[in-house]
Amino acid sequence: MKPYLKTIPNYKKVYLDMDYRKYIKSNKWRNKSKGWRQKYKRCALFPWLKSHTIHHMTYKNLGKEKYRIDVISLSFFAHSFIHSMDTADYPNLLQKIIHLWCRIPLFIKIIFLFFLLQYFVRM
Ligand SMILES: [Zn+2]
Repeated sequence: MKPYLKTIPNYKKVYLDMDYRKYIKSNKWRNKSKGWRQKYKRCALFPWLKSHTIHHMTYKNLGKEKYRIDVISLSFFAHSFIHSMDTADYPNLLQKIIHLWCRIPLFIKIIFLFFLLQYFVRM
């Protein structure tokens, strides 16, 4: 399911978009996302920020999402940043690259950022 295809006038795609909006307002989604927000309190894009929302990296498994595969926890800033890049095809290449970083476990990100910082300190 790709609700971001709604920019193209097409009955089928608009219908899928309605399905998505209905789902996002449902108790099923509210409970699921609440659980993840309590478990993952750090932003997956910028780990130094607190998480604010559960973001769909793909809409393929709507209703049976898995954390880190379909959805990820993001700060308000990171979420707006990612969706500011929205195009007719979601996720686009740039968003796919960002999602790849988001999927990496936090401790690996910390190690990566630590070595990156060391490199800049030496310069
Ligand atoms: Zn989102």
